[in-house]
Amino acid sequence: MLSTMQDVPLTVTRILAHGVLVHGRSTITTWTGGEEPQRRTFRETGLRAVQLAHALRDELGVDRGDRIATLMWNNAEHMEAYLAIPSMGSVLHTLNLRLPADQLSWIVNHAADRVILVNGTLLPLLAPLLPGLDSVEHVVVVGPGDLSLLEGARPAVHRYEELIADRPQRFDWPELDEREAAAMCYTSGTTGDPKGVVFSHRSVYLHSMQVLSAESMGLTSHDTSLPVVPMFHVNAWGLPHAAFMSGINLLMPDRFLQPGPLAEMIESERPTHAAAVPTIWQGLLGELTAKPRDVSSLKQVTIGGSACPPALMKAFDEQLGVRLCHAWGMTETSPLGTIAHPPGGVTPEEEWGYRLTQGRFPASVEARLVGPDGTVMPWDGASAGELEVRGPWIAAAYYGGAGEEPLRPDDKFSPDGWLRTGDVGVISDDGYLTLTDRAKDVIKSGGEWISSVDLENHLMAHPDIAEAAVVAVPDDRWGERPLATVVLREGATADYAELRAFLAARIARWQVPERWAVVPAVPKTSVGKFDKKVIRKSYADGELD
Ligand code: ADP
Repeated sequence: MLSTMQDVPLTVTRILAHGVLVHGRSTITTWTGGEEPQRRTFRETGLRAVQLAHALRDELGVDRGDRIATLMWNNAEHMEAYLAIPSMGSVLHTLNLRLPADQLSWIVNHAADRVILVNGTLLPLLAPLLPGLDSVEHVVVVGPGDLSLLEGARPAVHRYEELIADRPQRFDWPELDEREAAAMCYTSGTTGDPKGVVFSHRSVYLHSMQVLSAESMGLTSHDTSLPVVPMFHVNAWGLPHAAFMSGINLLMPDRFLQPGPLAEMIESERPTHAAAVPTIWQGLLGELTAKPRDVSSLKQVTIGGSACPPALMKAFDEQLGVRLCHAWGMTETSPLGTIAHPPGGVTPEEEWGYRLTQGRFPASVEARLVGPDGTVMPWDGASAGELEVRGPWIAAAYYGGAGEEPLRPDDKFSPDGWLRTGDVGVISDDGYLTLTDRAKDVIKSGGEWISSVDLENHLMAHPDIAEAAVVAVPDDRWGERPLATVVLREGATADYAELRAFLAARIARWQVPERWAVVPAVPKTSVGKFDKKVIRKSYADGELD
């Protein structure tokens, strides 16, 4: 028997309309680095999104299903693109501006983007790539920038403000199927070619509702959120869409992502929430220790993308009175997969045990742990396995290219359609996930596993260590052994013998690394995570002996 309920497609168009009608007075503030920040209401943003849609369709001939790329920082104009492009039935393709040039070109060509919206400050990055971007017909420059860099370029060049000016402020949005593509984002391709994840209107809508739930970020129009996480990194973890659903004011950092400007904008604009990867918070902690500022407006900070070192969470609690909330996800999971709110009825001391896990799964994300022999492991807090997930905002495949079938590589999807995350961990009987490593980073030493993350967390709790990254390196006797690379704080006196003794007091002796290297900085990926591939290569090339 079918229900008697209405069947209304869950679309970004509805998120846009709702934000303008119901939360029209909420604001988007974009940091400009010195001058007065730029301020716009949701209503103004929505109207400009309508004008952008007209410009794209009426002037540039953009059709339904076309991919429109953005090479942009977090700012109000990027939000306009977020709303306009999916609502008109086209596909917003956010480009990661920190990728190497060859990967960026590969991704644009693979997605066959027809238009690129680019911040003027990023023209030096885009201009040299343009001759190799065959599908791109139009470049739209947002904000100030030196257009002479584009002289002689094949695509037509437009200025954003001129392009959208005087366009109608109403648009007859198409009625979309909620399963149509709304946005796409390529994973950084740590192995092989980058892979395109295509989000549907439905997945964006449902994911936004989850972001808003009190069990997740629980934000409302009383809040101002600072998404430091880039809008090209899995849709800034869903915050832009969620903002239009519940009127969350947004503070956009634009290109001012260094610890100094971040501290300044937090002090002066007083956001209640912020979201970023651990390396950003590590940098901010250093800045605030050297130069204290008032960051007391922050009630909650979402941290994820890689494991949150316990020492960092403790320092935020104790030194700054700011609560870090740990979350896990990946591009393929939109990204919200788990979030670590402690359960009710536990003491403040017990809370720590929960806050340091990756957290609990929301109702829409089903999870299982698969052991090395393919058996499903129990949720007992001890039996480890690879995490597999499924749900309405979890990828079922990767984009294969225009006119091509989607890709479902065996190492990424199980035969029964679950996403293989490549993350290894345990789940407690009350549903909290603790990741011990990425499958490819775990150190397989003499038939036993050593968690690189565990070693890093212990090392980063040592007062002389600013950062630590541990990788597996080949070993004749044990197969693999850990190599610890450490960044020392200024004036540090600890030597390797002391660091070894420090670890031996905390972990099994056989896990303590014999190989060490002091490095000036841990190499980072394009989204600010430790780049272990680079460390392994440096070691193989004899640079870390
Ligand atoms: P990439 O794979 O290119 O780094 P993603 O941003 O999609 O791109 O990364 C997802 C991965 O990041 C996860 O599979 C996991 O290994 C890691 N990750 C994300 N959040 C956490 C977390 N809170 N703790 C540990 N690892 C995390």
